[in-house]
Amino acid sequence: MSFDTPPSTGCRDAPVLRERGQHEVFCGLTGIIWLHRKMQDAFFLVVGSRTCAHLLQSAAGVMIFAEPRFGTAILEETDLAGLADAQAELEREVGRLIARRPDIRQLFLVGSCPSEVIKLDLARAAEKLSVQHAPHVRVLNYSGSGIETTFTQGEDACLASMVPGLPETDARQLMLVGALPDVVEDQARDLLAQMGITDVTILPARRADDPVAVGANTVFALLQPFLGDTLAALERRGARHIPAPFPFGAQGTTGWLRAVADEFGVDDATFERVTAAPRARATRAVAQAAESLSGKSIFFFPDSQLEIPLARFLTRECGMRAIEVGTPFLHKTILGPDLDLLEAGPQLTEGQDVERQLDRCRAAHPDLTVCGLGLANPLEAEGLTTKWAIELVFTPVHFYEQAGDLAGLFSRPMRRRAALKLGAAS
Ligand code: SF4
Repeated sequence: MSFDTPPSTGCRDAPVLRERGQHEVFCGLTGIIWLHRKMQDAFFLVVGSRTCAHLLQSAAGVMIFAEPRFGTAILEETDLAGLADAQAELEREVGRLIARRPDIRQLFLVGSCPSEVIKLDLARAAEKLSVQHAPHVRVLNYSGSGIETTFTQGEDACLASMVPGLPETDARQLMLVGALPDVVEDQARDLLAQMGITDVTILPARRADDPVAVGANTVFALLQPFLGDTLAALERRGARHIPAPFPFGAQGTTGWLRAVADEFGVDDATFERVTAAPRARATRAVAQAAESLSGKSIFFFPDSQLEIPLARFLTRECGMRAIEVGTPFLHKTILGPDLDLLEAGPQLTEGQDVERQLDRCRAAHPDLTVCGLGLANPLEAEGLTTKWAIELVFTPVHFYEQAGDLAGLFSRPMRRRAALKLGAAS
């Protein structure tokens, strides 16, 4: 199927099944795991309970032994009972931390369920601490609590918290929004530079001193689909969003680049010259990895909000058939271009009632099920082949050079199951 021929009926107006019930997802604190690697002089201080500290430790895996730039200020029972002045204690803790780690230039106070429930005013604490530690350290605040945020929404809340403090600029510039691994970010910059688009800033920047400003002449393109609050915050600063499909696969990357190139008046010949070779490489790599995916069915449980663009990639470029595409939130403005390209047919769902969804999944018996770790092994034991959704957030998967790896993430569990079956039969 060619990218130039969108499906006759896309999914933009398809009915969405909205479910509310028990759900199996991460809270927004997990975003810290990849954000702290991206922002090299930032520290993330969760104000929460031992549960939050345990979550971070288990999600971070071996990273906790590498003096990471995140930690938890644990609320003790005296704080919860209102006996201690939690604000004063927090200020003392932050003072100690900053004295011990002079490399820290940005400090995020990250709210959690306990800090939200006892109504600890972290926004005020951040303001006060920012004044105390200016100009060397800027202190910001956002919430990653499970009450308010699901998984990748933690990144959204973090980036949105940075937008009001960005300096103003009148410059005509492109802002790329979303935390991608440095190597992928460099590829995107390089492709844009070859088309003559060089005034590019990235939110979040790698270091606090990297110049990132915003204003009425800023246009921005999202690199991730879960950035609804950041989009709104940038629009409040006068910036304009460039709608585009997300840069997954050869077609998605071309669609994303095309939208940005059109905004900057890049002519067709230049666009073709810059994209032809990497596009051909990506198409070849996807075709190779997609051999075991073609004709197979896929079912997405909600996890990261990447589900709709990934379903678009897997159906259009890898020949899969989507049965259900679940997402924690469906932001139609952001996902419109991807929905247009997703052939009508799959059930779209927003939110979760996990037991009902499991019933639908078992009844459909998909060839591949994308879900979190809590469901993966139990479903494998029932005979379903699964792909852990979290890997899609940690692995470099955007843009041309990673397109083959992205398809490989889905084909690997299929090949493994086939190999195990073969092994068992022999
Ligand atoms: S923020 Fe809430 S959901 Fe997340 S680990 Fe802490 S208590 Fe659990």
